[in-house]
Amino acid sequence: MKLNDGYTMMHEHMHIDLSGVKKDQDCCLDCFDEICAELKQLYAYGVRNIWEVTNVGMGRDVDTILKLEKASGIHFMISTGCYKDPFIPEAMNRLTAEELADFMIKEIMEGIDGSTVKADAIGEIGTSKNEWTANERKLFEAALIAHKETHKPIYTHTTLATLAKDQALYLVDHGADPNKVVIGHVDLSGDLDMIRSVIACGVTVGFDTIGKNNYLPDEKRIEFLLALEKDGLLNQVVLSEDLTRKSHLKYKGGIGYCYLFESFIPKLLEAGLSQASLDQMLIHNPQRIFGE
Ligand SMILES: [Zn+2]
Repeated sequence: MKLNDGYTMMHEHMHIDLSGVKKDQDCCLDCFDEICAELKQLYAYGVRNIWEVTNVGMGRDVDTILKLEKASGIHFMISTGCYKDPFIPEAMNRLTAEELADFMIKEIMEGIDGSTVKADAIGEIGTSKNEWTANERKLFEAALIAHKETHKPIYTHTTLATLAKDQALYLVDHGADPNKVVIGHVDLSGDLDMIRSVIACGVTVGFDTIGKNNYLPDEKRIEFLLALEKDGLLNQVVLSEDLTRKSHLKYKGGIGYCYLFESFIPKLLEAGLSQASLDQMLIHNPQRIFGE
């Protein structure tokens, strides 16, 4: 598929509900008006595409996404698949890898929930912290089958960046197109050598928790990005914020979706990163990942 000309944020949620498992109402992001207002600002910053990585079991709401698309002018790439334990619905866990793959392929080729709205991508599929459960194994197996059949991109979730290289090796060794695989949340590792080792697998990595300074200060992210620019590796890096909570939004005092453009990028450019490198991460890499 052809993305709209402009910037692309590669890992965001517009409607997500993890409040059941997390027992915290803050984890239910269902604030249409507030999100819509922020998206209009994002549009003004030049954002034209967002990969919406919410999937089955996470509170994906295609109607809301389409309404936000219409209201904001930003195009959303919609995802299929499931997240990770314990968020994978029981009914999905009962399926075999082949059946799970068939489900994903159907959402990509025919449509979601009997509608004609099709999934554009597989994501975010994840592993637990330092542990790859049997259900999560099956999920990756299914994603591989669906990816090979449809050639749609895959975005993974790592829990605090653990198993990032394992995920990359698994997907690439089993025939995934490395040009279409993004390993998520690697910035949370705080370990540049580990990040380099994931990139060496040929895949793209997500610096996709920008602004989550309680996990890793943005100064570190900037330092890492400058080092990767020096290495000539930014053609394998994409950027996003991964907001998932009401308290992440501006109206609740959070950083909001525009933080990347309001705060992070000015600092990154001031620290010496080139505009060309920025365009690589925000325009050209997403185009390649979603290209035919
Ligand atoms: Zn994630």
